[in-house]
Amino acid sequence: MKKRIAVLPGDGIGTEVAEGAMKVLETVASRFGHQFEFAFGKIGGQAIDSKGTPLPDETINLCKESDAVLLGAVGGPKWDKMPPELRPEKGLLGIRKELGLFANLRPVTAFDSLISSSPLKKEVVQDVDLLIVRELTGGIYFGKPSGRKGENRETAVDTLQYERHEIERIVEKAFTFARMRNKKLTSVDKANVLESSRMWREVVDEAAAKNPDIEVEHMLVDAAAMKLISNPKAFDVIVTENMFGDILSDEASMITGSLGMLPSASMRSDGYGLYEPVHGSAPDIAGKNMANPLAMILSSAMMLKYSFGMKEEAEAVEKAVTEVLDAGYRTMDLGSNSSCTLSTEKMIKQVVYQL
Ligand code: ATP
Ligand code: MG
Repeated sequence: MKKRIAVLPGDGIGTEVAEGAMKVLETVASRFGHQFEFAFGKIGGQAIDSKGTPLPDETINLCKESDAVLLGAVGGPKWDKMPPELRPEKGLLGIRKELGLFANLRPVTAFDSLISSSPLKKEVVQDVDLLIVRELTGGIYFGKPSGRKGENRETAVDTLQYERHEIERIVEKAFTFARMRNKKLTSVDKANVLESSRMWREVVDEAAAKNPDIEVEHMLVDAAAMKLISNPKAFDVIVTENMFGDILSDEASMITGSLGMLPSASMRSDGYGLYEPVHGSAPDIAGKNMANPLAMILSSAMMLKYSFGMKEEAEAVEKAVTEVLDAGYRTMDLGSNSSCTLSTEKMIKQVVYQL
């Protein structure tokens, strides 16, 4: 298969980990007989420096003309004093909006060899493998009216609003992912209190009736927050609205231990997506060859699976991650001293050796 991938390395360790992910993708391409063409674009601080804007039009066009986007990270102290419209983070929010990416995916996987990095008990964390599907473009973060009012601005207003079609499209995506995984879907809401949650539940029930092969349950967000800590193995795919997803995905990330291990995807209905690590540009370790490339590499595995339908290829990468960790090649964030490039080299070898 021939695919064109837009690569936006960004700033700080973004460039280092993007380099690693591209090398792994090239290895996957040669092992499985694919052709991946990388097209480079600027975003964030590097774009501000050379183009005067965190998101140049040519970057947007490049992404639109590609089959998927791989993004490193943006930001750093150099741009901290820029005016709000010239902040690197604007580039990130802008590209998600320009591309219409409404589904945010965060897998949470407990790697056996890293279980001790989690603050949770071993028996709770072991074998956890779940996926949070968060609605990204609606809900209380975007509802109008919002702001302060009253003579002394003593009233603060936020509005939680959802259109039915916004819920339908995220729920439909979640069913697709549940089908690709273990066919179990937990929809999280607050239907005992919120009208938007009651509509959410309606939409999920309608979709459940049309997809009888998927086991569906409803859970209130407070109960889900407890269960993520007490028994995370009870979940396979979780689908939820924007704010609940924001909170639950950070909570769930503690199961894995390190920020350097967490991949993410932001997608739309047609399978197009942007893939990036959850971590930022980590200015403190940038340029020192100390970054953990695995979050970015796992993000590229999500790209293979979810945008290109290459399940076997993605599994080869995921397996290699486990093997590299088991063999003891771990970066500083995982308590050892492997470099970014060495971890990447070992990844490449593992992807090849699995032959
Ligand atoms: P941002 O605002 O861009 O999200 P942040 O200040 O939240 O940035 P991150 O860049 O996400 O911070 O990282 C926080 C710290 O975690 C870093 O300073 C770094 O020490 C560590 N860290 C993050 N990502 C990695 C990684 N891939 N490898 C090793 N350490 C990492
Ligand atoms: Mg951060």
